[in-house]
Amino acid sequence: MSDPTRLPGPKIIAVANQKGGVGKTTTTINLGAALAAEGMKVLVVDLDPQGNASTGLGIDPENREYTTYDLLIDDSDLDKVIQPTRTEGMDIIPATVDLSSADIELMSNEKRSFLLHDALRQHAMDAHEYDFILIDCPPSLNLLTVNAMVASHSVLVPLQSEFFALEGLSQLMLTIREVRQSANPGLRIEGIVLTMYDARNNLSQQVEADARDNLGDLVFNTVIPRNVRVSEAPSYAVPVLDYDPTSKGAQAYLQLAKELMSKNIRIAA
Ligand code: ADP
Ligand code: MG
Repeated sequence: MSDPTRLPGPKIIAVANQKGGVGKTTTTINLGAALAAEGMKVLVVDLDPQGNASTGLGIDPENREYTTYDLLIDDSDLDKVIQPTRTEGMDIIPATVDLSSADIELMSNEKRSFLLHDALRQHAMDAHEYDFILIDCPPSLNLLTVNAMVASHSVLVPLQSEFFALEGLSQLMLTIREVRQSANPGLRIEGIVLTMYDARNNLSQQVEADARDNLGDLVFNTVIPRNVRVSEAPSYAVPVLDYDPTSKGAQAYLQLAKELMSKNIRIAA
């Protein structure tokens, strides 16, 4: 009997929002670590030329010989580009600034929107038996983000708890709809997670109320608080769960992981 808590094959999730600084990378790293702490095998794909997820997970620039650029442009094997992180159960495909030219280089490629999709479905993938693949998207709705959405089962949207947070969501939703119509009809919205939430701040509460009114069940129950431990962890090149496991930030990401897993078990059943 197969383990009923395990999905058949990896669940692939694009962490996307075209706004910068809303918590995409932070959520990718820390949700990934929390899922790994729950016993899931996790792969992080760094699809942002800034490489913040790679840095935050301790992959120094000199150790990024093979990257998502090689995976997309040079058709490299997954085995060649995947590296372990210091966090047990979590691997990464790192990124460097090279990736910034990929957007243009891909333009002339007939399969330009499907490169990540095809790469993640290489035969070698079976051997890794990942439960979750989290793709950290760049702050743009460019071809890289489209590649992430075409490759994914769902999109997880971090929403910063501040003014104008909901602005721009309609453009993101439009892109999701376009990807559904053209390349990936099964693409779902995994959920919207409020980040950098400050319970003492009226504005945070207002954004939450607005989001729940307008987006209903799409909004995760779990809210990620603004927590200094979360912002400090990347300078130690580890997820907050490894840096300060009892911090509010670490606990919130653990709760988010549990909420995500419970949703996915229901979907799998
Ligand atoms: P994005 O990837 O969307 O550009 P980041 O994840 O890099 O956003 O986050 C932007 C900044 O906000 C970073 O400096 C990060 O450390 C900080 N940050 C993100 N989430 C939190 C949080 N919950 N508490 C405190 N700081 C946070
Ligand atoms: Mg980022």
